[in-house]
Amino acid sequence: VNTGSKPDISREKSAELYEKAKNYFPGGVNSPVRAFKSVYGTPLFIQKGDGCFVWDADGNQFIDFCGSWGPLILGHNNAKVREKVTEVMQNGMSFGAPTALENELAELIIKNNKFVEKIRFTSSGTEAVMSAIRLARGYTGRDKIIKFEGCYHGHSDSLLVKAGSGLVTFGETSSAGVPKSFAQETIVIPLNDTKALEGAFEQFKDQVAAVIIEGIPANNGLLMQDVEYVQFLQKICNDNKALLIFDEVITGFRLGFEGAAGHYGIKPDIVTYGKIIGGGLPVGMYGASAEIMGHISPDGGVYQAGTLSGNPVAMAAGIAQLTELLRSGFYKELNTKTTEFADSIQRFATARNYKFKVFQIGSIFWLAFTEKEKIQCAEDIDPASMEKFKVMHRELLNRGIYLGPSGYEVGFVSASHTKIELEKAKRAIFDSLDVVFR
Ligand code: PLP
Repeated sequence: VNTGSKPDISREKSAELYEKAKNYFPGGVNSPVRAFKSVYGTPLFIQKGDGCFVWDADGNQFIDFCGSWGPLILGHNNAKVREKVTEVMQNGMSFGAPTALENELAELIIKNNKFVEKIRFTSSGTEAVMSAIRLARGYTGRDKIIKFEGCYHGHSDSLLVKAGSGLVTFGETSSAGVPKSFAQETIVIPLNDTKALEGAFEQFKDQVAAVIIEGIPANNGLLMQDVEYVQFLQKICNDNKALLIFDEVITGFRLGFEGAAGHYGIKPDIVTYGKIIGGGLPVGMYGASAEIMGHISPDGGVYQAGTLSGNPVAMAAGIAQLTELLRSGFYKELNTKTTEFADSIQRFATARNYKFKVFQIGSIFWLAFTEKEKIQCAEDIDPASMEKFKVMHRELLNRGIYLGPSGYEVGFVSASHTKIELEKAKRAIFDSLDVVFR
């Protein structure tokens, strides 16, 4: 159905590939959101990326704001990353033994980031967070964890848990296949609610191993928390001898080299990273003080391992990417252009009285169909507003702009988006908003 003012782009080749993919993969995809279930049409099959652009199988070109869901802070196919990866690949691709490249990436991270003294590399964000939870449990000798409704931490069993009904703070599984007994170890409470947090600690006194929060929750809209709330969170953890875990898989090296912890000036007990540290290759990581990390095997009793952990090719991509991020002024430039981008979209929407807000921090932005000035917890998002996003998503594709295919997802600006593309994207967003609200 094309209700917009532009004809739909040709998607024949992508549609053909999707039909084929459905024979091989559940839903035709290897990660559910890619299936375009929340927007019009079927998934675009991407053939190529360069800088801020991607091209699909039908040859359509898009300015990309998904950035592979966050890792590509320098843009697609960055020359420095590609050259380093190509160089390292000449020596082989995996050894399952230590390499100097692991030291090099670790040094880049630890020397420039006061929140971690020792780290362990994994192959995904999910693994990093799953391991951080195990470490917190092993370290404290307690089983329960507290997570927040609206935060996503990957797909490990303990974290596929949503808020239960009524006053019961035990979670309910949010996926088939997660045992109820696992969910009972995860307490789920709303964000930005000090009473709920106090209540959970009272109800489960001396049982909570850790509280886990996304540095800035960015998986269910962009739910920015006030610094006072995060300070409260840290204090209540300290008072109860529970660990505070910042899941910085999105925010790490995105908001700045020290992520959300640096932004808030709060030292979490354990931090998890992913996405950006792999430069587009599969890398995750968790880190903490040397004392806490001393509990990881082989030094300590918390087991955690990985065939491809610290893979040399992935390390090379991370080294090349993080080296660029350390360039003086990198974040200032990136964050300033994103602020200007977000502000001018907001000015346009406000001038036309559209019920639309752009929430933004650093180079992360979220386009929300709402009148609310602040959205700080999952409940504040009106699911009905997603219908408007759906229309906007199609209008944007038709105008050469690629956003993640769900209104709950944030967008990312990369260093490769120049003023020219941001200007084009803005105009496309203005026109699309006019269609949505006409
Ligand atoms: N934690 C956060 C905050 C994430 O955004 C994600 C993925 O989007 C994960 C963990 C899981 O990472 P991965 O998809 O690499 O397993």
